[in-house]
Amino acid sequence: MKSCNFRFNTSYTSLPVCFFSMTEPEPVVSPNVVILNEALAASMGLNFSGLTIHEQGALFSGNRLPEGSTPFSQAYAGHQFGHFTLLGDGRAHLWGEHVTPDGQRLDIQYKGSGRTPYSRQGDGKAVLGPMLREYIISEAMHYLGIPTTRSLAVATTGEAVMRQTMLPGAVLTRVARSHIRVGTFEFAATQQNKTVLGALMDYTIERHFPECLDQPNKALALLQAVLETQANLIVHWMRVGFIHGVMNTDNMALSGETIDYGPCAFMDTYDPHTVFSSIDRQGRYAYAHQPRVAQWNLARFAETLLPLIDEDEQRAIALAEETINQFPKLYQDKWLAMMRSKLGLFGKDSDDESLVFDLLDWMHKNQADYTNTFRDLSPLDQPFGTLYEQPQFNDWCRRWHVRLENNNAPLTLSISLMKQSNPVVIPRNHQVEQALEAADTGNLGPLYALLSVLREPYTQTDQTRPYQAPPEPSDRGYQTFCGT
Ligand code: AMP
Ligand code: MG
Repeated sequence: MKSCNFRFNTSYTSLPVCFFSMTEPEPVVSPNVVILNEALAASMGLNFSGLTIHEQGALFSGNRLPEGSTPFSQAYAGHQFGHFTLLGDGRAHLWGEHVTPDGQRLDIQYKGSGRTPYSRQGDGKAVLGPMLREYIISEAMHYLGIPTTRSLAVATTGEAVMRQTMLPGAVLTRVARSHIRVGTFEFAATQQNKTVLGALMDYTIERHFPECLDQPNKALALLQAVLETQANLIVHWMRVGFIHGVMNTDNMALSGETIDYGPCAFMDTYDPHTVFSSIDRQGRYAYAHQPRVAQWNLARFAETLLPLIDEDEQRAIALAEETINQFPKLYQDKWLAMMRSKLGLFGKDSDDESLVFDLLDWMHKNQADYTNTFRDLSPLDQPFGTLYEQPQFNDWCRRWHVRLENNNAPLTLSISLMKQSNPVVIPRNHQVEQALEAADTGNLGPLYALLSVLREPYTQTDQTRPYQAPPEPSDRGYQTFCGT
């Protein structure tokens, strides 16, 4: 097979052996590439155009790994819906780390490539719909400017996989800055070996937070840095109405990328209690709970670091608590700054928070569409439509205009700030489902059309218009199921 310009330089397997198992993907019967992300490949310095269709199928299904790849699966643990479990890559194989021409180190990983030592009762497989769904949503997140793992390809395997019914098997090739999770540290903590834990910490710092290297207390500096990146990430999610759905600690990447797209979705009408996942019956991971859950997860992370924070456990706990307790304010400040940008506001005013909350409250009571409301406000005029004719909304608009005048900045700057902060298109659930249904019957047209508008989500064009409409009432009440 041609080289495709891979430059593997895998560092993870130099960690203590408990962190991984050398594994091989399971061969599949009849692979076929459904979608290949050429833009991502080019940005990684890769080129697959020299491969035959047959070779591409072999590469993206796990039948044939590229030269230099040393496949392995990672061990991790995690709190799932609040309960601690030992986990690990139960259906994933890393190819290794590819170093791009501009020096970025990226994991490349198969998802759905067969059983591993961490599979427990699972079959190690994935099916086409959810893998294409991860492809769509992760690409949408990327172009929305939100840190995320990405999707290089989806290939069908030619095999049927048993879920609620028999479904076409598929493998997703995922690209990530790393797959180190809060759950990886939770796994390290179970080893009760400070050297093992320290090795993971040093590795993580070197790979993602080199600025912590020369800090007097590296563990505390790492905790602080992770707090910061997670706060930034959740603020982005809140900005675009993204609901992760399964914010278990094993689904929180320390790189600060959104990872593990399962039953995630974007909110249409604004409701802070929105949950999409059919398995989240308590609403634990609802839209408005995400910052609190992030803090809870970060507290689990902090616990794993205690032996490295201070030899004296009580002192370590006090230091960790002090750091974790900064999260609400850290998050709130970033959230308010983000909301100001969605409303075109510069500077700070003591009334800004209530201005934002009053708009959100109005949106909630009136079932206004989250994305479209902010976009309708972006020209700074009173927006059109019967929804906006209510006195309560007019009052709010007047307050907003007074505040805009206090910006001390030209209105054109407010308009461009709003246009950069408020997307025109998001991958709306009903449209994602339509594209997936068509793909299931072999028609990839709707999938390509959707991906194409999601590539420029902040610019309104003739192409974006059909994708801006909220779902019909019959399409609401959307739920995703965990048969991923
Ligand atoms: P997720 O819900 O995708 O974050 O996965 C949670 C855990 O279940 C991870 O350890 C996965 O590797 C594992 N897992 C999910 N699906 C399968 C499967 N079909 N076979 C084996 N393990 C799986
Ligand atoms: Mg996961």
